[in-house]
Amino acid sequence: MSNKIKIFGHNLQETTVVRVLDTKTKNEVNLPNYCIAFIGKESRNGCKSIGIALLDEVPKDENFASWISVGDKLGNICVGDVLFVNPYKEYIRILYRNGSNANTIFLTSTCNSNCLMCPQPPKEKDEVEEEWIHRQLLCTPDEVEELCITGGEPTLVPDRLCSVLRDIYNKNPLCHVHVLSNARLCKNVGLVKSIKSIGLNNLTFGIPLYSATPEIHDYIVQAKDAFDDTVTGIYNLASAGIDVEIRIVLHKQTIPELKRLTDYIYNKFPFVRHVAFMGMEHMGFVKKNWNELWISPEQYQDDLYKAIRFLNLRGMYCSIYNLPFCLCQRGLWPFLRNSISDYKVDFREECQCCDMKDDCGGLFHYQRNVMPVIPIRVSGLNPSYRNLKYNQT
Ligand code: SF4
Repeated sequence: MSNKIKIFGHNLQETTVVRVLDTKTKNEVNLPNYCIAFIGKESRNGCKSIGIALLDEVPKDENFASWISVGDKLGNICVGDVLFVNPYKEYIRILYRNGSNANTIFLTSTCNSNCLMCPQPPKEKDEVEEEWIHRQLLCTPDEVEELCITGGEPTLVPDRLCSVLRDIYNKNPLCHVHVLSNARLCKNVGLVKSIKSIGLNNLTFGIPLYSATPEIHDYIVQAKDAFDDTVTGIYNLASAGIDVEIRIVLHKQTIPELKRLTDYIYNKFPFVRHVAFMGMEHMGFVKKNWNELWISPEQYQDDLYKAIRFLNLRGMYCSIYNLPFCLCQRGLWPFLRNSISDYKVDFREECQCCDMKDDCGGLFHYQRNVMPVIPIRVSGLNPSYRNLKYNQT
């Protein structure tokens, strides 16, 4: 599954954001071959909408102002999806997937850190145009329940962040909004107050913290004083009543730190809502820093188990993201979550004969050929392991 679809032909004059109103299959229109997406004239609250049909010729119907050919690859575009259509670069990007677990607003391409394992390395200059974000939100369903705001570092564009949060609030004040941020700029109490004043009650900041030793954290994020800034930011957010989640990416630099870090989190931040331990994505800077980062999940199982057990026994809610059952020891299974975005998740051939496949969070698509998997037969397991997945103690 991909978020990007190639355009083979069009008569568009401009880049646009649209919502899919309707789709028709080849059988419904009884025509073979390639598909054409029609950009309709209809607009609701300023949001352009489109219907998509599969036809074998360029449309002549005047109800449709414009058309795009996407060959025979309509992909998985569904009714309710929001699309960014760029005729100049000849692609469609799916900005919002109806029913997806991973709808994201990309706020900026710049960052004030430069993490060794950043899967999406920041750019020197911000490439995001705010207008498109607002149009994306305009087309997003009013009843949207969950959105993630990411970057780059969202707090680097504080006015944009607040204005997007306000748009979400106006759409659905109960929407669960997850801001992925290093929180360094949240050392500025004024910014935290501005964010809080918007009134979103289900707002969480997901904040990476990689070591209890400032120098090590600063080295991993490649930014001086980052640890101190982030710690101050966490306190400011919590003081304002904004939920905090700590995120720890698991790699060669963080594994030796886990014990001290979990101890630190428990003692300094007992108020955090959630601690997420994350398998590393093999993307972006990870490839460049591979030797400094790579450690197989098998090698860190005991460290991870001890860290999670420590927090869990003290009543802190923990999760493991991005790792499948077969790469984790069984004591960790209750903490595994299906966290990989639905359009990135994949399985290996061998997974077809695994009894845990229906519950498994799978692998990142681009990692599927390098991660070793070991299909699991439930007959060889204590049946309670399946239930454990859902019952964190
Ligand atoms: S073998 Fe495949 S389906 Fe089974 S636990 Fe591993 S990754 Fe998941």
